[in-house]
Amino acid sequence: MFRKRLENFSNYITPQIECLVKADANENLLELPEELKDIILDTLKNSIPNLCFYPEINSQPLKEALAKFYNLKSENFIVGNGSDQIIQLIVQACCEQDDQVFFLYPSFTMYRITAELFDVGFCFFDITSQWGIDVEKIIDRIKTNEKIKVIFIDTPNNPTGIAWSAENLKALVEAFPSKLVVIDNAYGEYSDIDYIEFARRYNNTIILKTFSKIGFAGIRCGYGIANENVIKNLHKVKPPYNINILTQHIAIKVLENFEKLKNNIRIIKNERDKMIQKLKEYYYVIQSEANFVTVVDEYADRIFEYLVANKILVKKFEVGDKKLLRITLGKPQDNDIIIENLIRFKKENAKDGAKSC
Ligand SMILES: *Cc1c(COP(=O)(O)O)cnc(C)c1O
Repeated sequence: MFRKRLENFSNYITPQIECLVKADANENLLELPEELKDIILDTLKNSIPNLCFYPEINSQPLKEALAKFYNLKSENFIVGNGSDQIIQLIVQACCEQDDQVFFLYPSFTMYRITAELFDVGFCFFDITSQWGIDVEKIIDRIKTNEKIKVIFIDTPNNPTGIAWSAENLKALVEAFPSKLVVIDNAYGEYSDIDYIEFARRYNNTIILKTFSKIGFAGIRCGYGIANENVIKNLHKVKPPYNINILTQHIAIKVLENFEKLKNNIRIIKNERDKMIQKLKEYYYVIQSEANFVTVVDEYADRIFEYLVANKILVKKFEVGDKKLLRITLGKPQDNDIIIENLIRFKKENAKDGAKSC
């Protein structure tokens, strides 16, 4: 009944573990300011008479709010049911069966999953030996493979948190004028690098952004920013009515009141710097520019279990011969609990020779 492909298909899964501190999914778990809560409540109330209608087919009012927010035109935006959906649209719009997509390893797993879903090949560049960005080597690698049509770059990278400099990204984008470079900026609000200029300047890029990592993962809303031609072609494969009315209305209000979110973003950035500082003494910590901190440790399995036993959930990754723990920053008191536990683990296990990578 089902496609042969699905037999070995692994979709994105997350463990359902009961925990006191949830630090596994890069959500922003800080409480929203009361003012913003009230605005959203009003919006929901006012939406009720409209629930009988289909939503705006291409989210036009939301695109206009985005245009105002970024000082661009509404024709520069496409809105997706999460930026995950836009990743799908990109693969559908750009790749024939023999084509491939490219990404770094590790990077956001949905690039690979989406390629597999649409029977498109993929290839990657391994960054596990140094985690940083060696743009020349990456360009050389892509040059060896004519089949690559789409280059996915998450910056800051998930799960390392490392961001590309605009300069490196420029070199990549300019090296491949006929491939689409996807600048996945899901954590952009936590980093100081602004890539918006790429959407203005180049016709082979699209910037992906999302509401998910700034406190609104539950509304499922992401968007792409690109020149009109890229946007027009992605709309050809977009399902109609993909964003529900409530999500559209909330997203507009969030953009209009973005100032009110800034304090929560600032708190997370400070917490990140604090966590990196405190863990550095005990762990190999990657310099993150996102809302999470990632440590590399050969004992990651044991540490993960230790944290679970203390009702803390983080995300564990095995990449090549390295093991990572990605810790989402949350409320300051929760971050302190995580730091305490991680340091206690190292102290208790120091005699076994547990050490930084
Ligand atoms: C979380 C994440 C996304 C997905 O965002 P949604 O809008 O929730 O679908 C996209 N890219 C990266 C790199 C992410 O970490």
